[in-house]
Parts: sequence; C-alpha cells; structure tokens
Amino acid sequence: MRMLLRAVVLLIVVMSAISAIRGLLHMLQAAKREGGQPTGTGRLVKDPVCGTYVAQQTALSARNEFFCSEECRSKFLTDTR
Ligand SMILES: [Zn+2]
Repeated sequence: MRMLLRAVVLLIVVMSAISAIRGLLHMLQAAKREGGQPTGTGRLVKDPVCGTYVAQQTALSARNEFFCSEECRSKFLTDTR
C-alpha cells in the first residue's frame, strides 16, 4: 500500500513538473511572438528611402513602410507630405 501511495505522489510530482515546463515554454513562445510583427519573424523589408533591407522586427515603421533609421523615416514623411 505504501508503494502505491509513493507511486501516486511521484506521478503527481512528475505531472505538475511537466505542466510547469509546458507553461514555461508557452510563455517563451508567446514572448517571442509579441516581439515581432504579426506577419512573421525574421522577415526582411526594404527601406524605400535608401533601399536597404532591414529585419522587420528592428525596422521603424510609418504608413505601412519600413525604414532602417529615424533619418530615413523622417525623410520619407517629409517627402510625401
Ligand atoms: Zn534607410
């Protein structure tokens, strides 16, 4: 009987450990997703001002366009005003 109890306790410990790890992984994946744009991570976008390709995650955006720097973005915004 004592063996069975120990087995049940072990099972509960293992199950909670698995769910804890699963929750942690889920949190990490959610954090990764929140960091990027909803259209996907690691996507390259072209800066219409200087023609440089930049990662969408790190690019600056304005009016559905992406820019490598604040300089290019303000240039774009003043040119199209
Ligand atoms: Zn640029």
